[in-house]
Amino acid sequence: MTVERVPLSSALGAVLAEPVVARASIPPWRASSMDGYAVRASDITSIPCTLRVIGEVAAGREAPAAINSGEAVRIMTGASVPAGADTVIRIEDTDAGSEFVEIRNPRDARRNVRPLGEDFLAGDVILDTGDYLGPAAIGVLASSGVATVATYRQPTVSIVSSGDELVRVEGFDAVMSGHRIVSSNSYSLPAMVREAGGRPRDGGITRDDPLALRNAIEGAMACDLLITSGGVSVGDHDFTRTVMNQMGVDIKFWRARIRPGGPIVFGIIDGRPWIGLPGNPVSAMVTFELFVRPAILKMLGEKLIFPATRLVTLDEHISLTGDLTHYLRVVLTHRDGVDHARLTGTQSSGALTSMLRANALLIVPEGRRECQPGEQLLAMPLRSSVFRSATFPA
Ligand code: AMP
Ligand code: MG
Repeated sequence: MTVERVPLSSALGAVLAEPVVARASIPPWRASSMDGYAVRASDITSIPCTLRVIGEVAAGREAPAAINSGEAVRIMTGASVPAGADTVIRIEDTDAGSEFVEIRNPRDARRNVRPLGEDFLAGDVILDTGDYLGPAAIGVLASSGVATVATYRQPTVSIVSSGDELVRVEGFDAVMSGHRIVSSNSYSLPAMVREAGGRPRDGGITRDDPLALRNAIEGAMACDLLITSGGVSVGDHDFTRTVMNQMGVDIKFWRARIRPGGPIVFGIIDGRPWIGLPGNPVSAMVTFELFVRPAILKMLGEKLIFPATRLVTLDEHISLTGDLTHYLRVVLTHRDGVDHARLTGTQSSGALTSMLRANALLIVPEGRRECQPGEQLLAMPLRSSVFRSATFPA
């Protein structure tokens, strides 16, 4: 994994390649968390009481050195609490006086003073190698004085699609006149790579011809991960494995006991991983979720790379064929504290709209031929959409 140093402003989504030690304690002083008066709790035991105001302090200003018994300092949120004070009385509980102040409520006794280093102390390891840099991490790094961070470089992922029937969307006239379809994988796969944190590289569309395919793959080899789409099944025009074998690939596995995506192949070529995805648009997307996204996350230095699953309740009857683990496209809806799963319609691995409507993949284990309404099964949320809601959380 290559490490690169990036400024905080472009670190979102990256993963730390070094531990980060705080350069200062935050807050750097005992800080008030209220606008009000810094006092001693021992001075406000009988209420109301009146204290002499010996000065004032705002955030970013120097505080009066200390207060003695019977004294108060007018103080703003974030300002340094003078020595001797252990309490900030909120302004609403006073008469807001300037020479003298009347304290009318003791509820803030020993409150509203944030200790020095409450957030973190100088020398603390605040983030570690492998930590994901989300907005909060970026904010913490900034407040601890870290301007640039060492991160794992985003992997470059080349994508080569093959199929005599495929055209780019600009060639849609050929679709209208028959015998051609748009290579939708040439659009959805780069989008998935980008979403996963990789840098897609367009390896083009090639015909089902060993020489053309070899040229295209050789042209796409400048990458950290090679993805091909199509041509890995057992049809007369499936040349991808043959060509890769000619190029010296070390095939680690071909075929998985899953549907969709059974013909998937994985190997190492010239030191880099190759994942050969089936061409069916749904198979390509599902196998991307199962195999490619974790690979990209691993290359990004992430610790949690596999999709999380959760138990859901099936709302309909399903019958299946084949002794395979099925990944069915479902819509999860949250009702009565439970996630309910319904199929998105046809489960043909060619019907990309089944993916469009899905927010999860329902996992039906090998050997199951029938599933009944009310049954509990595992599902793998997609795009974490089940964690979102149309209403403000109350
Ligand atoms: P293959 O994996 O090459 O056997 O293709 C399986 C099915 O997926 C065929 O119906 C192809 O037309 C279709 N297909 C292959 N590649 C793509 C692609 N890049 N975009 C959309 N459909 C594809
Ligand atoms: Mg094909």
